Amino acid sequence: MNVKKQYAVIGLGRFGGSICWTLSEQGQEVLAIDMDEDRVNEYTPIATHAVIADSTDETVLKSLGLRNFDHVIVAIGDNIQASTLTTLILKELGVEKVTAKAQNDYHEKVLRKIGADQVSHPERDMGTRIANNITSSSVLDYLELSDQHSIMEVIAGQKMDGQTLIDLDVRAKFGVNIVAIKEEGNINVSPRADQTVNDGDILIIIGADNDIDRFKNHMLDN
Ligand code: ATP
Repeated sequence: MNVKKQYAVIGLGRFGGSICWTLSEQGQEVLAIDMDEDRVNEYTPIATHAVIADSTDETVLKSLGLRNFDHVIVAIGDNIQASTLTTLILKELGVEKVTAKAQNDYHEKVLRKIGADQVSHPERDMGTRIANNITSSSVLDYLELSDQHSIMEVIAGQKMDGQTLIDLDVRAKFGVNIVAIKEEGNINVSPRADQTVNDGDILIIIGADNDIDRFKNHMLDN
């Protein structure tokens, strides 16, 4: 059974707003918070609750019961002081999971230091994704797991066609794991060692970025 979690999104700009929309569309409980009345009004019909509040005010966050939420997203970018202070208060209140949007690397460093569980860099991540798509038509999507590790969705081409995972041996050769194979709309999330990879299959791979680069250069068509 899919247990519903309680989410709060602080800051309803494009980033926070789209998180709020998507969670609401999925039927999740979402508390939307912004200090700007117009933004809150915009999300009143979408979120479970929408409130006008300044998230740097600890008393307000306490009175909203944020400590009981499963996951709070701090989607304030421009005002770094407000973003870091909000994150700090949330962690001090004992919120289990806080995801914060970072404006730049320094901002990210501070957010991690004060306890953000996850830091998102939407502009940078989208830039990397687009660059990967531009330079290699074999790379479909990309998710950064840490500074040095990623998950990537790639298309297997001629170089891998007809070989089993044992033949390919990418873990030993490149340090990369193939965690799932999609073929003709079906996804196999625990491929067996004797599974054959065919031209056009979509592979989900995980590994260190430099290992993934070596894998891409040697095993993908372009
Ligand atoms: P985006 O890049 O996601 O579109 P933006 O450019 O609108 O965001 P940001 O500065 O990142 O601007 O702010 C996002 C939202 O966060 C704004 O709607 C702003 O009113 C809200 N916000 C900023 N500071 C606070 C705060 N202390 N408390 C609550 N909301 C805040």
